Amino acid sequence: MMITKQIQKPHKVLVVDDQELNRDILGMILEDGYDVIYACDGVEALAAIKENADSLSIVMLDIIMPNMDGFEVLRRMKADEQTKSIPVIVLTAEKDAELEALQLGAADFITKPFDLHEVILARVARIIELSEGRQLISSAEHDKLTDLYTRNFFFEYAQRLYTYHSETHFDAVAVNIEQFHSVNALHGRDFGNIILSAMGEEIRAFLSETEGIAARFEADRFAIYCLHQPDYGALLDRLQNKVDSASNGVRVRLRMGVREWGEGLDPVIMFDHARAACALARGDYHLSLQVYDKEMQEKELFYQRLLNDLQTAVDERQFVVFYQPKYNIQCDPPRLSSAEALIRWRHPELGMISPGEFVPLFERKGLISIVDSFVWENAAAQVADWKRRFGFELPVSVNLSRTDTFDSTLVERLVKLVADNHLIYRDLKLEVTESAYTENASQFLGVVESLRKAGFEIEMDDFGSGYSSLNMLSLMPVDVLKMDMKFVRNIENDATDRRLVTLILDIAKYLKVPVVAEGVETEGQLKILKDAGCDIVQGYYFSRPLPAEEFEKLIQKEIEIKRDRI
Ligand code: C2E
Ligand code: MG
Ligand code: MG
Repeated sequence: MMITKQIQKPHKVLVVDDQELNRDILGMILEDGYDVIYACDGVEALAAIKENADSLSIVMLDIIMPNMDGFEVLRRMKADEQTKSIPVIVLTAEKDAELEALQLGAADFITKPFDLHEVILARVARIIELSEGRQLISSAEHDKLTDLYTRNFFFEYAQRLYTYHSETHFDAVAVNIEQFHSVNALHGRDFGNIILSAMGEEIRAFLSETEGIAARFEADRFAIYCLHQPDYGALLDRLQNKVDSASNGVRVRLRMGVREWGEGLDPVIMFDHARAACALARGDYHLSLQVYDKEMQEKELFYQRLLNDLQTAVDERQFVVFYQPKYNIQCDPPRLSSAEALIRWRHPELGMISPGEFVPLFERKGLISIVDSFVWENAAAQVADWKRRFGFELPVSVNLSRTDTFDSTLVERLVKLVADNHLIYRDLKLEVTESAYTENASQFLGVVESLRKAGFEIEMDDFGSGYSSLNMLSLMPVDVLKMDMKFVRNIENDATDRRLVTLILDIAKYLKVPVVAEGVETEGQLKILKDAGCDIVQGYYFSRPLPAEEFEKLIQKEIEIKRDRI
C-alpha cells in the first residue's frame, strides 16, 4: 500500500556521514517530511542517539568514518536496551559491508551514489512503519473475555492504519446488545459473559476472512474497523446467529451502526458516527442496522451546535420558562388548579427550539441538570411572585430527569429552593417520567422516596408509554399519574383507546391517586374524560404553554370567577 501521508508530528531522522556533500543530499531529500538532525562521525552519532533515544524514528548510518566506524555504532546501539529498537539504514558503497551490516541488525541499506530520491523516501517511510508496527503489536492489549483488543490499543492501531493507508477504505462498525443491562439483570452475569464471548469469537472469525481489527469497549459495546463490506446485513446476521445459538432460547438482540469510509475522517470521528447510527438502530429486525447518512450527519451537526451553544444560552438568558395550565374538570366551570413549567429555548439564530429536540440530547450528555436547575429556580420564584401579587396559590410542576437524581445534593437543593422562596412543598410538584421508574434502579427510587419524605408530591409523567406492571406500580413512590398523550389522541373514535383510558382511571383509583390527562385538544375528548371520571386535564383545549406574563391573564380570569361566585 502506498504511503500517502505523514503523521501529524514529523518523525525524527538522524543522518550520520563524515562527508558534507552526502549529508546535504540526504538532508535535501528528507527535510520536507522529516525532522532531520546530523552527525559527522561515529562518536558524535552515538551521543546524538543517546540524547534522542525516545524521539528518534530512524538512523541513516554511513559505514566508513573516522574516529568510530558505522559497524561499531551499530554494535553499540544494539547492545543498549534504550537504543536497540531504533531502526538503522546503512549507507554504503561496498557490497561486502551490506551483509555484515544486516547481520549486525541494520534494517535496510541504501547504496552510494544515492538512488532516486523517491526510492530513498519510500524506504525510510517503510522502515519506520515496520518498526512502529512491530512496537505496537508487541504492546497489544487484549480484553480477557473476548480476546479482542482493548479500547486504547484499538484506537492506537486504527489511527495507524488510517495514517499509513489513508486511501484504503476501512469502515467503522459499532455493535451493541439491546438492553444488555436487563439481560444481565434477568439472566445473570455468567449468561451475559457467554453472550459476550460468543460475539468475540464470531468477530474474530469474521476478521480472519477480511482485513481489520476489533475491540470490546465497556460492557457490550463492540467496535470493528474493517475493509469495506458490500453487505453489513450479512455481518449482523452472522453475529446474531452466533448469539442465538449461544443464548439457549433467551431472546438477545443485536444492533449495529456503520460509518463508511470518507476522505479525511479519522477513526475517532468515524466511531462517533457509527455509535450515533447504532443508537438510532432499534432492536426490531428491519431497523437493527443503521448506516450513517446525510440526514444523520445534519442531525449530528445540529446537536453539536446545541451542545456548543448551551453555556452561552444560559449566560445570555436565551432559555425561557413557559407555563401550561391544568384544569380540574369535575368542577363547572373547570377550575385552574395548577400549571406545568416547560422550558423553551429562544435561540438567536435557530429560532425557538422545542425541548423535544434538546432535552433528550442533554440528558444523554449529562447536561440536563443545567437546564433543569434553571427551570426549578425560575418556577419557584414565579410561584412566590404570583402568591404575593395575586394572593393566589397555584402549584407548579417542574420536570425532573432521571439523571438529576444522580446528584447527591438534589433533595437538599430542592428543599432550600422552597425555603428561600418562602413556599410550601405543595407549591412545587415534581414530574418524573415513567421510563425513569421502569429502569428500576434502587438509587433512583431511593431519591424519589426521600423527595416524598421531604414533602414533595411526585407525578409520574407519560404514564402508559412504558411497561410498568400493576404489581410494580403499587410499590412505586407516586402521588399523581399523568396519562400519556397517546391515549387521549384517538379516544373520540377508537373504542380500544377509550377502554384503556378507563383502565388507567381504574388503576389510579386502586392506587388512590388522581389522574392528569395530557394532550386534550377538543371538546369531545374533554367530555369523554370528564364522564369517565378523570379529574384534571392539561392541553391545547384550554391553553398552549404560555410565557409568565400571558399566563397571568388566566390567573386573573380565575380570580374573577371566584369573586363572582361569592
Ligand atoms: P411533558 O413533560 O410530557 O410535557 C408535555 C408536553 O406536551 C409539552 O411539550 C406540551 O407543550 C405538550 N402539550 C401539552 N398539551 C398538548 C396538546 O394538547 N397537544 C399536543 N400535541 N401537545 C401538548 P413540550 O413543551 O414540547 O415538552 C416536551 C417534553 O420535554 C416534556 O414532555 C418533557 O418531558 C420535556 N421537558 C420540557 N421542559 C423540561 C424541563 O424543564 N426539564 C426536563 N427535564 N424536561 C423538560
Ligand atoms: Mg412533564
Ligand atoms: Mg407528559
